[in-house]
Amino acid sequence: MRLVMKFGGTSVGDEKCIANVVNIIKEFRDAGNEIAVVVSAMTHVTDQLIAITEEVINCKQKPALDAFIESLRSRHMRALIAVAPDYADEIGEHLNSRLTKLSNILLTIRNLHELTPRSRDYIISFGERLSAPIISAALRQVGVPSSYVSGCDAGILTNGVHNGATALPESYPRIQARVGALLAEQVPVVMGYMGCSTDDVVTTLGRSGSDYSGAIVGAGIDADEIFIWTDVDGVMTTDPRIIPKARVINSISFLEMREMSYFGAKVIHPRALVPIMQKNILVHVKNTFNPKHLGTIVSREPHRDKRIVKAISLIQNSCLVKVGGAIMAGRPGVAGEIFTALGKAGVNVMLISQGSSEMTISMIINEEHLDTAIAALADVKRKGFIREIGFDRDIAVVSVVGAGMAGTPGALGRIFLCLDAADIDVIMISQGSEVNVSFVVRQVDGVNAVRVVHEEFHLEEEEGS
Ligand code: ADP
Ligand code: ASP
Ligand code: MG
Repeated sequence: MRLVMKFGGTSVGDEKCIANVVNIIKEFRDAGNEIAVVVSAMTHVTDQLIAITEEVINCKQKPALDAFIESLRSRHMRALIAVAPDYADEIGEHLNSRLTKLSNILLTIRNLHELTPRSRDYIISFGERLSAPIISAALRQVGVPSSYVSGCDAGILTNGVHNGATALPESYPRIQARVGALLAEQVPVVMGYMGCSTDDVVTTLGRSGSDYSGAIVGAGIDADEIFIWTDVDGVMTTDPRIIPKARVINSISFLEMREMSYFGAKVIHPRALVPIMQKNILVHVKNTFNPKHLGTIVSREPHRDKRIVKAISLIQNSCLVKVGGAIMAGRPGVAGEIFTALGKAGVNVMLISQGSSEMTISMIINEEHLDTAIAALADVKRKGFIREIGFDRDIAVVSVVGAGMAGTPGALGRIFLCLDAADIDVIMISQGSEVNVSFVVRQVDGVNAVRVVHEEFHLEEEEGS
């Protein structure tokens, strides 16, 4: 079979983790599979790159650039020497030249006091530029022929939007020619999170974008299956960090997974589902640290099981924005003006609800977009399309997912009755698709809302029990 194996940051966090990853890859390759690997940066490295870039541009004092570069160097060199001693000189030299380049860019930004989206994207792609050569060398060390390939050299062509680029369909034949062609001979290790625009500018795919890289590469090489290797046993009924009783889901449909990840289940990046669904590629989500566990299968099958509700996601730090005024009632084009203005300003609207009197439209956006959204809506107000703009901070969105909800009378009733019994005020409701209903609560109620719905549908019990 032809497989893509994507390893997240914690899976390649240190030398021990990398050695473990190498064992997993070797085992699958020895079993006769062709494998393309996609890797993230080592844990926290992308966060550190973002933080140092902010410091360089905003801080009055000179940030400790040398110490930062040195800490990256020692962490990566330690891993390299441990997992690929025979290649420590060759790859060490390469990492050193990368780090010099990174240091020079940061210095230039500090001296010029100018940071463009283009230079920022280039800087934050360095985590993957440092991790991939080490993992590739570690494979060679155990006798698996391998090379490292940047997202750009792999053929990922993007629409050029910095910090959230989308891959163009022209990428696929390029990836087939550049990565697919290598697979008979070796295991290429592709740097996740990045691609290049049509004019060859590095663009990142948004935070956690290596899952998306894995999916793009999978679609490009016509993979039979994609493995998302992470730090939990699979896709779970909810985020185990907020509800420790969360359980692994054995199988889930693309549609259910898409809703879950769109509404905050971090385990797969929402945009990764686009190429996966287009090419109908079966996905396994598995734990690098517990590879014997079967994990979760994500596939086109609807998997109608006994469970009405399968999973619950939570997005915190959101805002409710309300626009209105009698002027809106029955007037065509108002919604178009509002959403065009927000779209142009780059504001992502997660949920929308329109009052039945047509006098208000409420929407949920991420808190970090609030100022931009208010400025964009102020323009719409100036043009006379709306009269009032209001907002509430500290809002959370809870999303309940399950194909079984469609056509099961009483499912929604159970959700809202259990919230009521727990004294949780529901501010807004939206049924986005047949496999999902989302509702909005105050941030302080978010985790409790997830907990009571999780309990109401007995999601802490084994599937099938
Ligand atoms: P990686 O570095 O492997 O990409 P991420 O941190 O991006 O890992 O994603 C895995 C994390 O997603 C888990 O550690 C878990 O805390 C979180 N998560 C949130 N919701 C879910 C869910 N429904 N199922 C599994 N994990 C979830
Ligand atoms: N390294 C990137 C991030 O931390 C991409 C990824 O890990 O998926 O966001
Ligand atoms: Mg991730």
